[in-house]
Amino acid sequence: LRSPFHGGHLEVIVGPMFSGKSEELIRRVTRSLIARQNVLVFKPALDDRYHASAVASHAGRSVEALAVRNVADIRAHLSGEDRLLGAEAGSGKPPLPDVVGIDEVQFFDAEVVTLALELADAGVRVILAGLDLDFRAEPFGPMPQLLARAESVEKLTAICTVCGAPATRSQRLIGGQPARYDDPVVLVGARESYEARCRVHHTVLE
Ligand code: ADP
Repeated sequence: LRSPFHGGHLEVIVGPMFSGKSEELIRRVTRSLIARQNVLVFKPALDDRYHASAVASHAGRSVEALAVRNVADIRAHLSGEDRLLGAEAGSGKPPLPDVVGIDEVQFFDAEVVTLALELADAGVRVILAGLDLDFRAEPFGPMPQLLARAESVEKLTAICTVCGAPATRSQRLIGGQPARYDDPVVLVGARESYEARCRVHHTVLE
């Protein structure tokens, strides 16, 4: 129920798309809620809005989460400077939650490493879930720093859609074809999809 670590610490959950990272984050957060701990979950907002939302797994389970534009939004929420999620105006600085979860943590910049360490040092159980590798199978943004500094790392696998072996990579497809190394991360109007693949069946075109 409680983590084996005393006091604040950092737990990181990684793997390719469809490996169950969100499911595992939801599982841990749900157990903390059952233990009546104070929990806050964040995720990056895909649009430019800061809003109440949820972390949902591909299999359909979910927990409440706040969609944020950046790490500064997380800090503003933790320090009570915003008035989202029903915080009372003038209620002062709220205590830190027992648990802070962040999903899709690979999309935040290096500031998220600083924040995670500050929270862990301040006694918070920090649970981060994200892609360790991008579609090129190269380390994704802040993940190497987070993985190196975490007390606990869980590396999950999905199932390769080609051969059924454990999948460690995310295959990016554009119009059904493997993406090129230099294809922009955001493609406007393209028919894009992702599949879990093993090392053998993961392709990045030159
Ligand atoms: P992630 O957050 O890592 O993308 P989710 O927790 O959202 O993963 O979803 C994991 C679920 O996705 C699995 O439990 C399974 O039901 C489903 N799924 C769909 N495709 C695959 C696949 N290729 N390999 C494994 N699970 C898959």
